[in-house]
Amino acid sequence: MPELPEVETTRLGLLPHLRGHSLIEVKVRNPRLRWPVPDDLQARLAGRTLVDVTRRGKYLLFDFGPITQLVHLGMSGSLRLAAPGEPPATHDHIDWLFDDGCRLRLRDPRRFGAVLLSDAPAEHPLLAHLGPEPLEADFDADYLYAQCRSRHAAIKQVIMDASVVVGVGNIYASESLFHAGIRPTRAAHRVSRPACARLVAAIRRVLTAAIAAGGSSLRDYVASSGEPGYFQLQTRVYGRAGLPCRACGTVIRRIVQGQRASFFCPACQR
Ligand SMILES: [Zn+2]
Repeated sequence: MPELPEVETTRLGLLPHLRGHSLIEVKVRNPRLRWPVPDDLQARLAGRTLVDVTRRGKYLLFDFGPITQLVHLGMSGSLRLAAPGEPPATHDHIDWLFDDGCRLRLRDPRRFGAVLLSDAPAEHPLLAHLGPEPLEADFDADYLYAQCRSRHAAIKQVIMDASVVVGVGNIYASESLFHAGIRPTRAAHRVSRPACARLVAAIRRVLTAAIAAGGSSLRDYVASSGEPGYFQLQTRVYGRAGLPCRACGTVIRRIVQGQRASFFCPACQR
Protein backbone atom coordinates (compact mmCIF):
# COMPACT_ATOMS: atom_id res chain seq x y z
CA MET A 1 0.00 0.00 0.00
CA PRO A 2 1.43 3.42 -0.87
CA GLU A 3 2.25 5.19 2.38
CA LEU A 4 3.20 8.80 3.01
CA PRO A 5 6.80 8.35 1.80
CA GLU A 6 5.65 6.85 -1.53
CA VAL A 7 3.10 9.63 -1.99
CA GLU A 8 5.68 12.29 -1.17
CA THR A 9 8.22 10.63 -3.49
CA THR A 10 5.60 10.65 -6.25
CA ARG A 11 4.90 14.34 -5.64
CA LEU A 12 8.57 15.28 -5.71
CA GLY A 13 9.10 13.24 -8.88
CA LEU A 14 6.16 14.73 -10.79
CA LEU A 15 6.45 18.35 -9.73
CA PRO A 16 9.31 19.52 -11.99
CA HIS A 17 7.61 17.98 -15.07
CA LEU A 18 4.10 19.29 -14.50
CA ARG A 19 4.16 22.54 -12.52
CA GLY A 20 3.37 25.60 -14.61
CA HIS A 21 2.06 23.54 -17.53
CA SER A 22 -1.45 23.65 -18.83
CA LEU A 23 -3.63 20.58 -19.07
CA ILE A 24 -4.76 19.73 -22.59
CA GLU A 25 -6.83 16.61 -22.13
CA VAL A 26 -8.03 14.13 -19.53
CA LYS A 27 -8.78 10.63 -20.74
CA VAL A 28 -10.79 8.50 -18.30
CA ARG A 29 -10.83 4.88 -19.44
CA ASN A 30 -12.45 3.54 -16.26
CA PRO A 31 -14.28 5.90 -13.86
CA ARG A 32 -15.06 3.19 -11.32
CA LEU A 33 -12.54 3.88 -8.58
CA ARG A 34 -13.38 3.91 -4.86
CA TRP A 35 -15.80 6.71 -5.72
CA PRO A 36 -16.84 7.48 -9.32
CA VAL A 37 -14.44 9.80 -11.12
CA PRO A 38 -16.36 13.07 -11.78
CA ASP A 39 -17.97 13.15 -15.25
CA ASP A 40 -16.84 16.75 -15.70
CA LEU A 41 -13.14 16.18 -14.96
CA GLN A 42 -12.13 17.08 -18.52
CA ALA A 43 -14.63 19.97 -18.77
CA ARG A 44 -13.50 21.59 -15.53
CA LEU A 45 -9.73 21.06 -15.83
CA ALA A 46 -8.79 21.25 -19.52
CA GLY A 47 -7.07 24.50 -20.43
CA ARG A 48 -6.12 25.24 -16.82
CA THR A 49 -2.54 25.63 -15.62
CA LEU A 50 -1.28 23.36 -12.86
CA VAL A 51 -0.08 25.85 -10.26
CA ASP A 52 1.36 23.36 -7.77
CA VAL A 53 1.16 19.82 -6.45
CA THR A 54 0.99 19.60 -2.66
CA ARG A 55 0.23 16.77 -0.25
CA ARG A 56 -2.04 16.42 2.76
CA GLY A 57 -1.65 13.09 4.49
CA LYS A 58 -1.76 10.56 1.66
CA TYR A 59 -3.76 12.84 -0.65
CA LEU A 60 -2.05 14.59 -3.54
CA LEU A 61 -3.56 17.99 -4.25
CA PHE A 62 -3.23 19.19 -7.85
CA ASP A 63 -3.81 22.93 -7.60
CA PHE A 64 -5.40 24.23 -10.80
CA GLY A 65 -6.18 27.68 -9.33
CA PRO A 66 -9.91 27.83 -8.60
CA ILE A 67 -10.21 24.04 -8.68
CA THR A 68 -8.14 21.40 -6.91
CA GLN A 69 -7.96 17.79 -8.00
CA LEU A 70 -7.52 15.35 -5.09
CA VAL A 71 -5.83 12.04 -5.82
CA HIS A 72 -5.53 9.14 -3.39
CA LEU A 73 -3.60 6.04 -4.47
CA GLY A 74 -5.68 3.64 -2.37
CA MET A 75 -4.24 0.15 -1.91
CA SER A 76 -2.38 -0.31 -5.18
CA GLY A 77 -2.37 2.95 -7.15
CA SER A 78 0.59 4.66 -8.76
CA LEU A 79 1.03 7.85 -10.74
CA ARG A 80 3.85 8.16 -13.22
CA LEU A 81 4.74 9.76 -16.51
CA ALA A 82 4.07 7.47 -19.46
CA ALA A 83 6.82 7.17 -22.04
CA PRO A 84 5.98 8.84 -25.40
CA GLY A 85 3.72 6.52 -27.39
CA GLU A 86 3.44 4.00 -24.56
CA PRO A 87 0.01 2.33 -24.86
CA PRO A 88 -2.12 2.12 -21.71
CA ALA A 89 -2.09 -1.22 -19.90
CA THR A 90 -5.15 -2.96 -18.43
CA HIS A 91 -5.15 -1.10 -15.13
CA ASP A 92 -4.15 2.33 -16.49
CA HIS A 93 -7.46 4.06 -15.79
CA ILE A 94 -6.75 7.77 -16.35
CA ASP A 95 -4.30 9.87 -18.43
CA TRP A 96 -3.71 13.61 -18.10
CA LEU A 97 -1.94 15.15 -21.09
CA PHE A 98 -0.05 18.43 -20.55
CA ASP A 99 1.12 21.06 -23.04
CA ASP A 100 4.78 20.00 -22.73
CA GLY A 101 3.83 16.51 -23.96
CA CYS A 102 3.99 14.94 -20.50
CA ARG A 103 1.36 12.28 -20.00
CA LEU A 104 0.52 11.58 -16.36
CA ARG A 105 -0.94 8.11 -15.94
CA LEU A 106 -2.88 6.55 -13.04
CA ARG A 107 -2.58 2.81 -12.66
CA ASP A 108 -4.71 1.18 -9.97
CA PRO A 109 -5.32 -2.59 -10.26
CA ARG A 110 -7.52 -2.81 -7.15
CA ARG A 111 -9.35 0.50 -7.79
CA PHE A 112 -9.42 1.65 -4.16
CA GLY A 113 -7.89 4.94 -5.22
CA ALA A 114 -9.79 8.18 -5.76
CA VAL A 115 -9.77 11.17 -8.12
CA LEU A 116 -12.05 13.98 -6.94
CA LEU A 117 -12.50 17.72 -7.50
CA SER A 118 -12.92 20.42 -4.87
CA ASP A 119 -13.27 24.20 -4.84
CA ALA A 120 -12.19 24.31 -1.17
CA PRO A 121 -9.87 21.36 -0.46
CA ALA A 122 -9.05 22.36 3.13
CA GLU A 123 -12.75 21.96 3.94
CA HIS A 124 -13.24 18.76 1.97
CA PRO A 125 -14.77 16.07 4.22
CA LEU A 126 -11.84 13.73 3.52
CA LEU A 127 -9.27 16.33 4.59
CA ALA A 128 -10.98 18.59 7.14
CA HIS A 129 -10.48 16.31 10.15
CA LEU A 130 -6.93 15.17 9.52
CA GLY A 131 -4.33 15.70 12.24
CA PRO A 132 -1.06 17.55 11.68
CA GLU A 133 1.61 16.48 9.20
CA PRO A 134 4.34 14.43 10.93
CA LEU A 135 7.14 16.44 9.33
CA GLU A 136 5.67 19.87 10.12
CA ALA A 137 6.47 21.94 13.22
CA ASP A 138 3.00 21.64 14.79
CA PHE A 139 3.59 17.91 15.37
CA ASP A 140 5.81 18.19 18.44
CA ALA A 141 6.26 16.59 21.88
CA ASP A 142 3.77 18.91 23.59
CA TYR A 143 1.12 18.14 20.99
CA LEU A 144 1.60 14.36 21.10
CA TYR A 145 1.74 14.32 24.91
CA ALA A 146 -1.54 16.28 25.07
CA GLN A 147 -3.16 13.82 22.64
CA CYS A 148 -1.92 10.84 24.68
CA ARG A 149 -3.13 12.11 28.08
CA SER A 150 -6.77 11.23 27.48
CA ARG A 151 -6.29 8.07 25.45
CA HIS A 152 -6.23 4.56 26.87
CA ALA A 153 -5.63 2.88 23.52
CA ALA A 154 -2.21 1.40 22.75
CA ILE A 155 0.34 4.01 21.69
CA LYS A 156 0.83 2.30 18.33
CA GLN A 157 -2.84 2.68 17.50
CA VAL A 158 -2.78 6.33 18.59
CA ILE A 159 0.11 7.27 16.28
CA MET A 160 -1.59 5.41 13.41
CA ASP A 161 -4.81 7.41 13.94
CA ALA A 162 -5.01 10.01 11.15
CA SER A 163 -6.94 12.40 13.38
CA VAL A 164 -3.89 12.48 15.72
CA VAL A 165 -1.17 12.61 13.07
CA VAL A 166 -1.35 11.69 9.38
CA GLY A 167 0.80 9.28 7.43
CA VAL A 168 2.27 7.00 10.11
CA GLY A 169 1.58 3.63 8.50
CA ASN A 170 2.10 0.22 10.06
CA ILE A 171 5.77 -0.26 9.15
CA TYR A 172 6.69 3.26 10.20
CA ALA A 173 4.80 2.99 13.50
CA SER A 174 6.63 -0.21 14.46
CA GLU A 175 10.02 1.18 13.47
CA SER A 176 9.47 4.54 15.21
CA LEU A 177 8.42 2.86 18.47
CA PHE A 178 11.60 0.78 18.38
CA HIS A 179 13.76 3.87 17.93
CA ALA A 180 11.91 5.60 20.78
CA GLY A 181 12.25 2.55 23.09
CA ILE A 182 8.48 2.29 23.61
CA ARG A 183 6.57 -0.97 23.49
CA PRO A 184 3.70 -0.77 20.94
CA THR A 185 1.17 -2.08 23.48
CA ARG A 186 1.83 0.60 26.10
CA ALA A 187 -1.35 2.58 26.89
CA ALA A 188 -0.98 6.06 25.41
CA HIS A 189 -1.77 7.82 28.70
CA ARG A 190 1.19 6.01 30.27
CA VAL A 191 3.69 7.45 27.78
CA SER A 192 5.71 10.22 29.45
CA ARG A 193 6.47 13.59 27.92
CA PRO A 194 10.18 12.70 27.37
CA ALA A 195 9.05 9.47 25.68
CA CYS A 196 6.66 11.49 23.48
CA ALA A 197 9.60 13.72 22.53
CA ARG A 198 11.65 10.65 21.57
CA LEU A 199 8.71 9.26 19.61
CA VAL A 200 8.14 12.48 17.63
CA ALA A 201 11.84 12.58 16.76
CA ALA A 202 11.78 8.90 15.77
CA ILE A 203 8.69 9.29 13.54
CA ARG A 204 10.32 12.23 11.76
CA ARG A 205 13.59 10.34 11.32
CA VAL A 206 11.96 7.14 10.03
CA LEU A 207 9.68 8.95 7.54
CA THR A 208 12.48 11.22 6.33
CA ALA A 209 14.71 8.20 5.73
CA ALA A 210 11.90 6.43 3.85
CA ILE A 211 11.27 9.46 1.63
CA ALA A 212 15.00 9.63 0.96
CA ALA A 213 14.96 5.95 -0.01
CA GLY A 214 12.08 6.57 -2.39
CA GLY A 215 9.35 4.92 -0.36
CA SER A 216 9.49 1.41 0.95
CA SER A 217 6.25 -0.51 0.93
CA LEU A 218 4.57 -0.54 -2.47
CA ARG A 219 5.75 -3.47 -4.48
CA ASP A 220 4.72 -2.24 -7.90
CA TYR A 221 5.41 1.39 -7.26
CA VAL A 222 7.13 2.95 -10.24
CA ALA A 223 9.01 6.19 -9.81
CA SER A 224 8.00 9.12 -11.98
CA SER A 225 11.14 8.74 -14.04
CA GLY A 226 9.95 5.23 -14.97
CA GLU A 227 12.54 3.47 -12.85
CA PRO A 228 11.47 0.92 -10.26
CA GLY A 229 10.85 2.80 -7.03
CA TYR A 230 10.54 -0.09 -4.63
CA PHE A 231 13.24 0.26 -2.01
CA GLN A 232 12.94 -1.90 1.08
CA LEU A 233 14.05 -0.03 4.18
CA GLN A 234 16.61 -1.71 6.37
CA THR A 235 14.11 -2.31 9.16
CA ARG A 236 15.07 -2.76 12.82
CA VAL A 237 12.00 -4.75 13.92
CA TYR A 238 9.33 -4.83 11.19
CA GLY A 239 9.20 -8.22 9.47
CA ARG A 240 11.98 -9.58 11.73
CA ALA A 241 10.04 -11.86 14.13
CA GLY A 242 12.30 -14.58 15.52
CA LEU A 243 15.46 -12.78 14.46
CA PRO A 244 17.90 -11.16 16.90
CA CYS A 245 17.45 -7.44 17.69
CA ARG A 246 20.07 -5.46 15.79
CA ALA A 247 20.75 -3.45 18.96
CA CYS A 248 20.83 -6.07 21.76
CA GLY A 249 20.43 -9.56 20.26
CA THR A 250 17.12 -10.36 22.00
CA VAL A 251 14.64 -12.21 19.76
CA ILE A 252 12.15 -9.85 18.06
CA ARG A 253 8.50 -10.62 18.82
CA ARG A 254 5.45 -10.31 16.59
CA ILE A 255 1.97 -9.62 17.95
CA VAL A 256 -1.30 -8.50 16.35
CA GLN A 257 -2.91 -5.19 17.33
CA GLY A 258 -6.09 -4.02 15.64
CA GLN A 259 -5.65 -6.71 12.94
CA ARG A 260 -2.19 -5.34 12.08
CA ALA A 261 1.13 -7.01 12.82
CA SER A 262 3.36 -5.28 15.35
CA PHE A 263 7.01 -6.13 15.90
CA PHE A 264 9.12 -5.16 18.89
CA CYS A 265 12.20 -6.00 20.94
CA PRO A 266 11.09 -7.00 24.47
CA ALA A 267 14.40 -5.77 25.89
CA CYS A 268 14.84 -2.43 24.07
CA GLN A 269 11.16 -1.43 24.25
CA ARG A 270 9.38 -0.92 27.57
ZN1 LIG B 1 16.80 -4.99 21.51
